Formats: sequence, C-alpha cells, structure tokens
Amino acid sequence: MPMVSMRQLLDEAAKGGYGVGAFNVNNMEQIQAIMEAARETQSPVIVQASRGARSYTNDRFLYHLMMAATELYPEIPIALHQDHGNSPDTCKSAIEMGFTSVMMDGSLMADGKTPADFEYNVRVTREVVDMAHARGVTVEGELGCLGGIEDGHGSDADPLAHLTDPDQAVEFVERTGIDALAVAIGTSHGAYKFTKKPTGEVLVMERIEQINRKLPHTHLVMHGSSSVPQELQDVINKYGGKIKQTYGVPVEEIQRGIKHGVRKINVDTDNRMAMTGAVRKVLTEKPEEFDLRAYMKPAREAMKEVVKARMIQFGQAGHASDYKPIPLEEMARRYKETPVTV
Ligand SMILES: [Zn+2]
Repeated sequence: MPMVSMRQLLDEAAKGGYGVGAFNVNNMEQIQAIMEAARETQSPVIVQASRGARSYTNDRFLYHLMMAATELYPEIPIALHQDHGNSPDTCKSAIEMGFTSVMMDGSLMADGKTPADFEYNVRVTREVVDMAHARGVTVEGELGCLGGIEDGHGSDADPLAHLTDPDQAVEFVERTGIDALAVAIGTSHGAYKFTKKPTGEVLVMERIEQINRKLPHTHLVMHGSSSVPQELQDVINKYGGKIKQTYGVPVEEIQRGIKHGVRKINVDTDNRMAMTGAVRKVLTEKPEEFDLRAYMKPAREAMKEVVKARMIQFGQAGHASDYKPIPLEEMARRYKETPVTV
C-alpha cells in the first residue's frame, strides 16, 4: 500500500470514534517497532519525524526506510508526518521528499522557541495549506504554546500561560483551512511534564471539550502526550540511569480527549524510555557484551510493546483494513473542490 494522507486516517478515526498514535522515529529499529506493533494489532499508523530526525537520517535514509515499511507491511495504512515544521520551507522540503502530512507550527517563530503572534501564525500556516493541499498533503497547525523543549522545539514558557483560546481557534481554522489542530492544554514535550499526577488545574482537558464544541469537524491533536509510566522510569534507574521522578499524561485523560475530537496523539518519550531501559539492562547485566544486536533487539521489542499498548488504548487497533487508501491526487482534487474562502 502506498503511504496515505494523514487526513484520511483522521477522517476514518473520526467516523470510528478512535484516536491514532503518532510515533516519532529516528532510526530503523523504531520504524520496525512501530510497524510490528501495527501488524500485531492491525492498526493504521502515523509515523512522524522532527527536523532533528530528518537531519539525523539525512532525509534519504528515512525516506528509504519508510519505503521499506510500505513494502513489508502492505496491509497497513501509513501516513508520514513532519512533526513541528518551523517554516514553510521545512514543510516544502518534507512534501518534496514524500511526506504525506506536515505540521506548520506557526505558534513559534522559525527559531522554534520564540512565541509568534496570531497573524504570523495564520499567514505561514495558510501558505503551507495552499502548497500542501495542491499535492493532496495534510496540514496540522498549532495554536497556543506547549511547554518544554524536546528535540530543539517547543517553548520554555509556563505551559498554562498560553493555552489555546477556543474562539481564536475557530478563526484560525477558518482562515487557514488546516486539517488538524494541535491544542495547548498544559502538556509539555519531554519527560518532565508534571511533578505529580496531573489534576484538571494543570492538564486542562476541559479546554479540549470547549474547542471541540466550537469546532466539531476539526481533528484535534494532543502533543506531549507520553504517559511516562513509572515502570519505564524504574527500569532506567535500576540499571544506572538518573531519571528524576516525573508524571506524564494519564492514558485515561487521553481517552477522555478522544471522546471529544482528539484524533492524533503524539508519543515519543515513552518509546525513548522503553528503548533506553532495555539497552541499559543488557549492558549492565552483561558488561562483556559488544554485539549491537544484543541490546538493539530487546530495545526494539520494548518499544513495540509500548506502541502496541497505546494502539489498543487509543482504539486504532483492528482498523487497518477498514478502508482503501485514497491517492494523494484524489485528495488534491477534493481540496480544490472546497477551497478555503476566508
Ligand atoms: Zn509537539
């Protein structure tokens, strides 16, 4: 199966009332872990790459690994998504490389750090929508700012200072024509999201419900949504790591979001922690070991188990063969029929 647009995956998820995990990748083992999890659970899947991942893989390695994934897992619908594009140029190069979806994060300036104003965000996002939709490619935008810095993106600011405003979200979606909207509700990138199990004061799920009431047909996206399970922290620390006690986004809160329009859930930290814990365990228990496969295989297996669990929890499991892929050309034709008019 060729790669499909993320829009199609999210439209199907909306019909079925489930969410789709978007998992970040940097190398072959992570792609393999996701694809095996998708096969075992029969899930459609979003694979995403940050700018850092694209430079780490020189783009071409990533591209060909993804081509291998489509060859080896023909029954799985896969969308390849640019995570946190910082400029129209970044999105353009992703589209030229074969990404079927891009995020234009105009909530921040091109440095990926400085909060941008609303008009800037509308302008750059609309520019990307015009360019992407002409090729049938999906666009995710972001309004409001998330906290934390991971992989060189994100704002340092207090995540509560810039929650997404529901009325502004309506204007943003109308003026840009985006397919999916990333909302700021108090989550952060990275491992250190909350210092205790989050309450509604710091993880403002209510905001998602308000936005969903005003924008019932817009696919919402939760960033920074790793759950950072205690057992993953414990494995790392048991084998010589130094992870400070931390709390992520509880899966039941994500499930609550899915009931209110959340269709894409970004997960990266949990997978990083699972792999790191597995590598540490092997190297600690067998310090004489130097065959990469001795630790990369269990690392890949550990990530697969986390991804499988999320696929089941988000509800995407079992939906891989529900629909036929729509070619990007056909998606482009549909966008042309219903242009953004504002
Ligand atoms: Zn993000």
